[in-house]
Amino acid sequence: MMAATGIVTRFAPSPTGYLHLGHALSALLAWRAAREAGGRFLLRIEDIDLARCRREFAPAIEEDLAWLGIDWDGPVRVQSEHFAEYAATLDALRGQRLLYPCFCTRAEIAAAAPHGPEAPYPATCKHLDPHAAADRIAAGTAHAWRLHMDRATAGRALSFCEHGQRRACDPMPFGDVVLARKDTPASYHLCVTLDDTAQGVTLVTRGEDLLPVTAIHRLLQDLMGWPEPAYAHHRLLVDAGGQRLAKREGAPAIRALREAGLSPKSVRTRAGMPD
Ligand code: GLU
Repeated sequence: MMAATGIVTRFAPSPTGYLHLGHALSALLAWRAAREAGGRFLLRIEDIDLARCRREFAPAIEEDLAWLGIDWDGPVRVQSEHFAEYAATLDALRGQRLLYPCFCTRAEIAAAAPHGPEAPYPATCKHLDPHAAADRIAAGTAHAWRLHMDRATAGRALSFCEHGQRRACDPMPFGDVVLARKDTPASYHLCVTLDDTAQGVTLVTRGEDLLPVTAIHRLLQDLMGWPEPAYAHHRLLVDAGGQRLAKREGAPAIRALREAGLSPKSVRTRAGMPD
């Protein structure tokens, strides 16, 4: 793991499509925070979801960032090249008896959790006999690995620094979150915390939709003894109807604006970052 010296920020897009204005705002805020402080700005490609991510979007992301006037330090970290590191962390958590295998299908979870997809996992597999679970794994049954949230949080008071203000946080309402998915041997929560540590990130800037799950990230950092970065979540761009740009069909891609003849400066302004 790299020691952090000075401020280090990052932009961590998933290559599921071209960058849009919302991404531009996120990248510009992180880049500017680093550059204004004489720090480092890093780029990371979050592509563990091998079914949704497409390799060809990664160079397109780099090209769009460069066109916007954003430069980054050091090599780009590509998550799919680091599965061995994620596996080692899962082993460490398993060694602390903090993970259990979950064989449930989405349909089974939906049927057992009447409160909808955001409800915590109903813990069906939590109390499986460990030998029976081991037999199912040995037989090749697809399974995820979930965090024992109650064990993991026992006796821990968690908090984080958001825009310089310390606030308490509690990951318990998320329940036994998945740290290794059935379809890919890692998860967003695991990778983002490991990578921020591995890259020496000291200030996490990202959209405010991720503010609540910061509690999960702080728990993982605490469990693993990893350093705590500061956080600065930012507003999300919305359209005239108030809908999040990222979710909207056909949010304007940077390259479409560029092909339409807009300058980098005017795209930066449209993203809400006047020069
Ligand atoms: N890869 C995530 C996204 O594209 C960002 C994760 C983060 O910044 O923590 O939404």
